[in-house]
Amino acid sequence: MDEPIILTESQHPLRRSMLSWEALRVLTRLDEAGYKGYLCGGGVRDLLLGREPKDYDVATDAHPEEIKKLFKNCRIIGRRFKLAHIFFRDTIIETATFRALLDTPPPEAEEVPLPTRRNTDVPDPTFATRGGVIVRDNVYGTPEEDAKRRDFTINGLFYDIADGSIIDYVGGLKDLEHRVLRVIGDPATRYHEDPVRMVRAVRIASQLDFEIEHRAREQIMNMCGELQSASRERMYEEMLKIFNCGCAQKIFDRSWRKGLFQTIYPAFSAWLQTEAGKARGLPWVKKALKQFDVWKKAGLKPMPALQHALLFGPYMECLVSAMSEEGVPAFEATVQATADVLRDKTNLTQIPKAVVFDVERILGLQVQMRKSSGQSKYASRLRRRKGFDEALVYLKFASGLDASRKELLARWMALAD
Ligand code: ATP
Ligand code: MG
Repeated sequence: MDEPIILTESQHPLRRSMLSWEALRVLTRLDEAGYKGYLCGGGVRDLLLGREPKDYDVATDAHPEEIKKLFKNCRIIGRRFKLAHIFFRDTIIETATFRALLDTPPPEAEEVPLPTRRNTDVPDPTFATRGGVIVRDNVYGTPEEDAKRRDFTINGLFYDIADGSIIDYVGGLKDLEHRVLRVIGDPATRYHEDPVRMVRAVRIASQLDFEIEHRAREQIMNMCGELQSASRERMYEEMLKIFNCGCAQKIFDRSWRKGLFQTIYPAFSAWLQTEAGKARGLPWVKKALKQFDVWKKAGLKPMPALQHALLFGPYMECLVSAMSEEGVPAFEATVQATADVLRDKTNLTQIPKAVVFDVERILGLQVQMRKSSGQSKYASRLRRRKGFDEALVYLKFASGLDASRKELLARWMALAD
């Protein structure tokens, strides 16, 4: 066991009053019931940096069923590893029991027979890695183990509600001070276990304006191909986090240089490197990401469909033009291009069907807006269509890059007033 570095309350700037009342409520109730109540993850990191956390995560030695007894607004989730979600009106506090390290078999592994029926209270001791990739991950552990199985040192700090101390098992405090994002353990091993950590590294370092430690950075370039084995649903969620984190444009630049973006969206990226892609696609994509950053700063939350429409817009429009030249009607070509681009099997993100339909609507409405003079009954019906507001935002955005749409935009804006 390694001795942690402990900073007492007077040695660091984090105060209880900085926490949200919901996080404070969960932590104090755990503490009062005799359990450990640690704030962990991005919450501690951000508060120490003077930033407002996106969410608060709690780690405790109370087991999920014990947590449930303390909070009536609690739901246990997860199949492999059970977590407690404690619900408040505006937020959820994710409360997890300390987890063991992957390569430490639980002490009772030999003694506890595998339940014949699924018994949710008995941690399944048969967790393992398959070729080093996590397949089961569900055994409770000590605070030290819990800290060491986290991704980056700056994400492995605990704030103990009992005495206001910061507990550091992983060297996170030093890295926070030097503004370095360092993988806990060997980067290659940790990326191999869970390749999504590479994407998280680039996002979090960009958000905080931290340097990624040399080897951790180098291995991203060597290993980004391993993202092929990541869950497509998780990757979709990660991309949404990037779109909405406030520095999407910077992350695009960094991940393009590392070849990460190209791995995630190969066909789109290949197009971005063609003549048309370079001329029309790249400036468009950069502007779209900048727009996401502006929205974030203004506290706006655009629909994922609008974001996907804007990001992939020039590529989809290019495919539509090619199909139109071959005589395919514009509307049909739009439906086809949307599916070709967003459902492309080489994409590492699984874009939900509903989002694909909404993108199709936004692009389809561009065609319909062009057809309508703006005054007819048809036009007023169009304005009431689902997705019209987003379609208008798309048109506004596109006309900033393409002067030929300005007149169309003016016509529709006049109607919208
Ligand atoms: P933010 O919420 O600002 O995006 P975060 O670091 O809090 O950043 P979360 O997704 O909220 O990210 O995760 C909470 C914590 O869980 C992390 O700080 C980290 O300690 C741990 N964690 C998250 N994802 C992983 C992972 N893939 N591998 C190991 N630990 C992880
Ligand atoms: Mg978080």
